[in-house]
Amino acid sequence: MSTQAAVFLDRDGVINNDTGYVSQWSEFVFLPGAIEAMQRLSRAGYALIVVTNQSGIARGYYSEQDFATLTQHMRHELSRQGASIAGVYYCPHHIDGVSAEYRKSCSCRKPAPGLLLRAIDDHNIDAKRSAFVGDKASDMAAGASAGIARRFHVTTGSPEPGSVRVSSLLQAADLLLGVNQNS
Ligand SMILES: [Mg+2]
Ligand SMILES: [Zn+2]
Repeated sequence: MSTQAAVFLDRDGVINNDTGYVSQWSEFVFLPGAIEAMQRLSRAGYALIVVTNQSGIARGYYSEQDFATLTQHMRHELSRQGASIAGVYYCPHHIDGVSAEYRKSCSCRKPAPGLLLRAIDDHNIDAKRSAFVGDKASDMAAGASAGIARRFHVTTGSPEPGSVRVSSLLQAADLLLGVNQNS
């Protein structure tokens, strides 16, 4: 039975400042309001699940261990602040990868829905009661393919069809939780 509602979160550009291939905790900077948004969503009963493309692994910029170490720091900091992450799913692949292990066209790199489908299965998520917050067209496409009902596009441009434009994760949380915002 699927009863758990979730908010799926892209990482770079949604949770933290996307400075390009962020791989060290020392260069990981939470975006303004991101922690507060996760606190509120968590308190409202949503499972928080991170889904992130990490082609830097395939490209040889950093290792899966580097990613795991950074993830551990991120999760520890968030749980310390009352915003525990239920799961982190990542795609280490890329078609231009430098090692054979990661060089492939996979079903988990967004816009493919593989990571989301795995998370939905692992955590018994009800996609119809869930949301996805991402900053790229590929995020919105993955969310749509996985049947995630509400999709929030963090962008200053036009939102992808079927998604709602927001300026930040905090604004997405406000909309999701029905908080009124003036201006
Ligand atoms: Mg992103
Ligand atoms: Zn993949």
